[in-house]
Amino acid sequence: MAASLRLFGAASGLRYWSRRLRPAVSSLAAVCSRSVASKTPVGFIGLGNMGNPMAKNLMKHGYPLIIYDVFPDACKEFQDAGEQVVSSPADVAEKADRIITMLPTSINAVEAYSGANGILKKVKKGSLLIDSSTIDPAVSKELAKEVEKMGAVFMDAPVSGGVGAARSGNLTFMVGGVEDEFAAAQELLGCMGSNVVYCGAVGTGQAAKICNNMLLAISMIGTAEAMNLGIRLGLDPKLLAKILNMSSGRCWSSDTYNPVPGVMDGVPSANNYQGGFGTTLMAKDLGLAQDSATSTKSPILLGSLAHQIYRMMCAKGYSKKDFSSVFQFLREEETF
Ligand code: NAD
Repeated sequence: MAASLRLFGAASGLRYWSRRLRPAVSSLAAVCSRSVASKTPVGFIGLGNMGNPMAKNLMKHGYPLIIYDVFPDACKEFQDAGEQVVSSPADVAEKADRIITMLPTSINAVEAYSGANGILKKVKKGSLLIDSSTIDPAVSKELAKEVEKMGAVFMDAPVSGGVGAARSGNLTFMVGGVEDEFAAAQELLGCMGSNVVYCGAVGTGQAAKICNNMLLAISMIGTAEAMNLGIRLGLDPKLLAKILNMSSGRCWSSDTYNPVPGVMDGVPSANNYQGGFGTTLMAKDLGLAQDSATSTKSPILLGSLAHQIYRMMCAKGYSKKDFSSVFQFLREEETF
């Protein structure tokens, strides 16, 4: 890839690619044989809140899809649109040499790859397997070793941006894996995201994602606390949000994904916290942050507290609601 298409972070050395700098697909063609046949079918496994709009963006870019989800209803829309639905991850691997997985947890990813009818049963040599689920970096490294033994390539590419960014194709992808394969991964990820960042070896994409989500959980709880306090002090929530968003308390949770019903349209708080990013998934990501902090002996005082709060929410009936329902959870609490 031309050096001009890459920006190098002076301190971090991170490789960064944004849609504004997106190369023509043809300029990537020499990278490897997979990308020469750039409109050959792409496998997609896991068509949930995120996978559904991500796969649709690949369709919009002209990629035929080979689809699988354990929940058959999740595939229906794609079948109706003429895409090929198969009955196992192994069948996806038989028909596609580029596969994206978008699954809830490490256990689901291991099942999709190494299970009885997993990808590894029928993966073709030279295939590119991109896992965009948020999972334990240690599991990503294990999967990469298994995939390598089969003569294929594995990259972890978790995302940030939520369902809205998945729909509009503006996700941020944090990519870990062999650097020579980054350009081939970009070709697909650039159809679904506006930022595709190379982070380093396998597992480093997950590391970046875990840090981001720990900060997101802390800032969402902080936003919910501030909004709840302001409302109890008699402030109008819309006015308070407007002031926060022009002041130093502004953050993504306050200005793009406000947790208070009635403040913004088109976010889960405007829809009884349906859709979006489930509280269970946030508790899972904070558990990954907790494990990583233990193994690296890093203090994460607020991250640990956020983990406890989201675990409590799961136990108290919030597990299926969007994680911004922490506002509702706090609203129901009164303290002396
Ligand atoms: P989801 O639960 O809505 O969807 C997951 C899909 O995977 C479901 O359709 C489920 O049936 C399917 N599935 C589960 N196990 C499977 C298996 N073994 N084989 C095939 N299909 C299987 O989850 P989501 O919100 O789409 O999140 C997916 C991943 O993306 C998670 O790791 C999450 O942490 C991460 N993420 C989510 C968001 C968000 O806003 N929802 C944002 C960033 C990252």
